[in-house]
Amino acid sequence: MTSGGGLEPANYRLSKNTALLTYTDLLPYNTQQGVPITREFLLKLIEVLLEFVRQTNDRNCKVLDFHHPADMRRMLDLDIPDRPVTLQQLIDDCCLTLKYQVRTGHPRFFNQLSCGLDLVSMAGEWLTATANTNMFTYEIAPVFILMEHVVMEKMREIIGFQGGDSILAPGGSISNLYAFLAARHRMFPAYKQKGLSCIQGQLVMYTSDQCHYSVKSCAAVCGLGVDNCVEVPSDSRGRMIPSELERLILERKAMGHIPFFVNATAGTTVLGAFDPIEPIADICQKYKLWLHVDAAWGGGLLLSRKYRHPRLSGIERSDSVTWNPHKLMGALLQCSTVHFKEDGLLLSCNQMSAEYLFMQDKLYDVRYDTGDKVIQCGRHNDIFKLWLQWRAKGTDGFEKHMDRLMELTEYMVKRIKSMPDKFHLILEPELVNVSFWYVPTRLRSVPHGPEREQLLGQITPVLKGRMMTAGTLMIGYQPDDVRPNFFRNIISSAAVVEADIDFLLAELDRLGHDL
Ligand SMILES: *Cc1c(COP(=O)(O)O)cnc(C)c1O
Repeated sequence: MTSGGGLEPANYRLSKNTALLTYTDLLPYNTQQGVPITREFLLKLIEVLLEFVRQTNDRNCKVLDFHHPADMRRMLDLDIPDRPVTLQQLIDDCCLTLKYQVRTGHPRFFNQLSCGLDLVSMAGEWLTATANTNMFTYEIAPVFILMEHVVMEKMREIIGFQGGDSILAPGGSISNLYAFLAARHRMFPAYKQKGLSCIQGQLVMYTSDQCHYSVKSCAAVCGLGVDNCVEVPSDSRGRMIPSELERLILERKAMGHIPFFVNATAGTTVLGAFDPIEPIADICQKYKLWLHVDAAWGGGLLLSRKYRHPRLSGIERSDSVTWNPHKLMGALLQCSTVHFKEDGLLLSCNQMSAEYLFMQDKLYDVRYDTGDKVIQCGRHNDIFKLWLQWRAKGTDGFEKHMDRLMELTEYMVKRIKSMPDKFHLILEPELVNVSFWYVPTRLRSVPHGPEREQLLGQITPVLKGRMMTAGTLMIGYQPDDVRPNFFRNIISSAAVVEADIDFLLAELDRLGHDL
């Protein structure tokens, strides 16, 4: 197994003449010779990038070459100089940066909800970087703005919304915040102008005890206080219990509070559980509450006829949906979307009518200026890579991808169950999260119970440390409310095949049997 050897700077030499030049010899400074020099510089960089892509897809290469922060700091020259460095030095810097970067697209990287390196999406990101535009007006991003319209409309159609509105946000956490803000604006339109004092009573929001922490963060950021984000208990598989939701709504109403917002999670971050949307939607209808579905993680399954139901059944009854293409769909980071059933809310909620950007007397139909729908000013172009990827795959390709990830997960569960002495499956997954403990030799004869769980919880981080030091495998772990540390394996990369699952299980045993 090799580390990033191919990324040694010695392998990427610029020609003698170019190597010693500096940035002023590139475009736009050098109007005489700038074109060929810039071309040589960028082509060399692309060679470096392609080597990283090759290594990412090479099972004989390590996933990572781990060093502690203090050692890494010594090994790398990260200082900001007073004087320009040479073009060769810049290429060397790029080599070393990627040499020590974790290969998140490697078939043995199971650590994160965003795994994999989709090359078409990456090509899109390269183009996006080159176009280097801001997404606030049609004026400066005409093609990209139209792509946003087309792709967002398609996603709303797949959710089951007719009409509506959407926006791409910098991550699912901010998407959830947009949903919260729109919900409050819908119910208390005076808030935008008058602030907190126009709401006579304590606003309360609800989410399950398994939700992503960004939901609670809405309560902290928006003046409710975390105590007024009520955590609804979940069942043994991590799904919100609807009867508990109703009980807690009635409890707060009896105190004179104002429940207004319910978040249902479709694919929880740790266990991959789906809150039952239909009964939660019934409760929201009964008490006139906004229903948001946080499908940042599980949203991809909307594209699968086989797995969409019952997991996401009823999602079309919600008022808003967060859906991150940079997770299950494999779009490059970042790509997150939030969708609304009602059109016009985003604009009336967030519009500030900045006179220098959003003039109403422009040459074109100014409804295409999206910048006043958001609490940001500039927005990064996150659409092109998704549009290009979707063109490449077609909707059928995405469906195949989802079904394949679920099939591989079923394979992993089957394999784990076939070795009950070495592995303890925590629950039957609904999504590609597989939660389990590895059982070292000395604990195999101990009956499973709270005491053995404590011991397994202690060895889990040690085994993770061994994995990182070996550089052969990465799997995440965490404790939860009822369990000590356990592994959460994520299969969210198109690079993974059955043999990688077999490797993963064998490698855990190789690294951990003596713990
Ligand atoms: C990942 C995740 C988020 C946050 O998304 P970011 O893009 O990381 O901000 C929100 N909700 C759920 C359920 C998630 O899994």
